[in-house]
Amino acid sequence: MIPTSELVERIRAEAPRVPLICERLGIDTERLVVEGDVGLTEQNVLSYAARRIEIAEALQADPDAEKQGLLGIERDGRTLRWRPGKTLTYVVWRPSFPNDQEYRAVVDGMASAVSDWQSICGIRFEHVAAKDTDEGLKLGDVTFPVLRQAGGGTTVAMAFFPDEPLDRRVVWAFDGFFDTDGPFSPVGVMRHELGHTLGFRHEHIRPETPEDFAPENMDHVIELTGYDPRSVMHYLGRNVGDPQLRFTESDRIGARLVYGGPDAEFSYAD
Ligand SMILES: [Zn+2]
Repeated sequence: MIPTSELVERIRAEAPRVPLICERLGIDTERLVVEGDVGLTEQNVLSYAARRIEIAEALQADPDAEKQGLLGIERDGRTLRWRPGKTLTYVVWRPSFPNDQEYRAVVDGMASAVSDWQSICGIRFEHVAAKDTDEGLKLGDVTFPVLRQAGGGTTVAMAFFPDEPLDRRVVWAFDGFFDTDGPFSPVGVMRHELGHTLGFRHEHIRPETPEDFAPENMDHVIELTGYDPRSVMHYLGRNVGDPQLRFTESDRIGARLVYGGPDAEFSYAD
């Protein structure tokens, strides 16, 4: 088994680096990108490497481990989620975009993705469009901004988990997001990224996944449904993943377990 220190060195050497710069919002950092759209700070590489080794060892010990799917994040035995009734507000911050066309593509992609999530579980998003052009926008004015960042390499977009600090609560759209020849549907990409913002992790981090996807760095996972190779949270691989990143029945069930049914299903007796 490869020692942790060696894996850390390898990740530092091989993982692509994405500069994340938005000085006006106080963000100016570089992240190591693993698994396509998971950004690690230098400090997190160690725990990520340790987690990879832990999972590899678990697989060696029990290659027939049960396949489980839509993955939540566990903290103290409970599933991490936004509190009931919270509306996640966002802006698509126009000053970070080079032109209206790209800005529009993200506004539209977000609107569809948001409406899709709201149709399968009890979560609410609100686009605070009046602040899209606010030059003086500050972190914390909304739950998260969606920012355009030049570059990104093979990373198309990147998001955050609910318990991350304010300066990481950003959905980033990179060059690849606007590549019309790319394999992914832009709305699908936003559905996937919003899944992270709601606390869902990559479906393919299970060691049982029939492709060579590396597991993620975070500590705890809650298995919400059976393993689902077509989940919106699954990457593309040979015979697995869906370039449209649509919701599957397991996604719906898992999302409802965490957030309950869509608000539209309920009304209140007088
Ligand atoms: Zn992802």
